[in-house]
Amino acid sequence: RTVYVNGEFLPEDRAMVSVFDRGFLMADGVYEVVSVLDGKLLDFEGHLVRLKRSLAELSMDNPLPDADYLTVFRALVRENGIVDGLIYLQVTRGNPGDRDFAYPPAGTKPTLVMFTQSKPGLAEAPAARTGWRIISIEDQRWARRDIKTVQLLFPSMAKMEAKARGVDDAWMVEDGLVTEGTSNNAYIVKNGTIVTRALSNDILHGITRAAVLRYAAEAQMRVEERSFSIDEAQSADEAFVTSASAFVMPVVEIDGQAVGSGQVGPVARRLREIYLEESRKAAI
Ligand code: PLP
Repeated sequence: RTVYVNGEFLPEDRAMVSVFDRGFLMADGVYEVVSVLDGKLLDFEGHLVRLKRSLAELSMDNPLPDADYLTVFRALVRENGIVDGLIYLQVTRGNPGDRDFAYPPAGTKPTLVMFTQSKPGLAEAPAARTGWRIISIEDQRWARRDIKTVQLLFPSMAKMEAKARGVDDAWMVEDGLVTEGTSNNAYIVKNGTIVTRALSNDILHGITRAAVLRYAAEAQMRVEERSFSIDEAQSADEAFVTSASAFVMPVVEIDGQAVGSGQVGPVARRLREIYLEESRKAAI
């Protein structure tokens, strides 16, 4: 695999960063994941806008002019022959040459890394037909979940807990209300209304969420942006999650209890179809 590091395209075994990099020592970095379908990028612009917001929130320099991100993404897709898959992009505060809590002096170059992951048949994931089973878990992350940082230890622990309990993912809960999934936004459907938590610092502002809510409104579906509990989710007609890599993924069981019929519901199925169709059309 050819990966991109700080302006160079290198074979993956020659792509390296310093042990003093603040991403490595302090999880001082942000990232984005963009899907590739049929060799084209989904929601590219949205991910770039969010990347710049994450960088600005952390007073981190943007390492590239906007147009160059697209050029590098396309070069990586081409070089690696990606038909369906993902592009991972990470910016860290770079290498100050030693370990220190204070940020390095202005002018210290951020570290920029991008690589591809090939996922043949990404849009035809068999799980989309059967749906995910999930558990709930107390949300123990920090309070700025709107910034897409590489500080992913708690979501990773939650994912391991889900695996240990034989299910697919976990929804995190704070003050009795669902925040989001380990790496996705959470939704329920009741009497035809799609319900998802409103945007705030408590959750990541999902790019797929924005697209799905837009398509739902265009299709005259009712949407309510408000919080909900696990109890309410368990007695909903349907549940699902969205993310750049899972698109729209139905959820059919929460903490051992079937949601609705326990099968993939019509709203989640339709939204997945619409999202895939519309975002493929808009892909660049
Ligand atoms: N919420 C969290 C915590 C995430 O990590 C992610 C994606 O990685 C999402 C939501 C979904 O965001 P997006 O649709 O932009 O992939």
